[in-house]
Amino acid sequence: MRRKLAAGNWKMNGLAEALSELNELTVTYGEAPVDILICPPATLIDRASEAAEGSAVAIGGQDCHPKTSGAHTGDISAEMLRDSGASHVIIGHSERRDDHGESSALIAAKATAAYDAGLIAVVCCGEHLSTREAGETLPHIGKQIAESLPDAATAENTVIAYEPVWAIGTGLTPTVEQIAEVHDFIRAELIARFGETTANGIRLLYGGSVKPSNAAEIFATSNVDGALVGGASLKAADFSAIIDALVAA
Ligand code: PEP
Repeated sequence: MRRKLAAGNWKMNGLAEALSELNELTVTYGEAPVDILICPPATLIDRASEAAEGSAVAIGGQDCHPKTSGAHTGDISAEMLRDSGASHVIIGHSERRDDHGESSALIAAKATAAYDAGLIAVVCCGEHLSTREAGETLPHIGKQIAESLPDAATAENTVIAYEPVWAIGTGLTPTVEQIAEVHDFIRAELIARFGETTANGIRLLYGGSVKPSNAAEIFATSNVDGALVGGASLKAADFSAIIDALVAA
């Protein structure tokens, strides 16, 4: 049985006062039957980790550099994230792939850095609308997964998030049939590469405009083990409703 995961990506949002939303979550979820993850901006990881200590909420970074240290102004290493109290890191979010030109090869190097630092990598994939309209979604996802996952990926160190780019922050979501098609495909690709035991342990999250009103239906979908949530993770009330839907699924 894969343990479900509700992950929140705060992106470039949140000053110190945003920690009150995290505090609300830690009070509500001192314990939980699912995993809960909040990825605040790097500036808050230290304080968020302290605030979440002893609760069911884990803290993660939103990106890391493939190297451990060096002359890389503005970057942050996986080791630094770990040192700040993070246990996870999002890798290859479409906003990194698009805004920073990140290739799948670079993402695989970042995932390796995450493993080396003892972090769980949440590796993202997803198609643009033009790719979907061209009927190329599955080959595109297959290529991204093949090139972004290191051979060292395991059920313990890797989570995959399928996030159609056209659904992120737009309020648009794929049909549950479309989500199931991609998630079933990813599972089959993982089985072909890593074998049944490893592949069946890797959690597959859906991401893209998940909100309290659509969470239950998404969580009932084949091979969906949770969600990566952007906008609706910023408010504890909304994210709690999503966590509760995951618990109930
Ligand atoms: C995301 O950026 O990972 C995301 C899924 O955003 P949103 O939930 O706002 O669509």
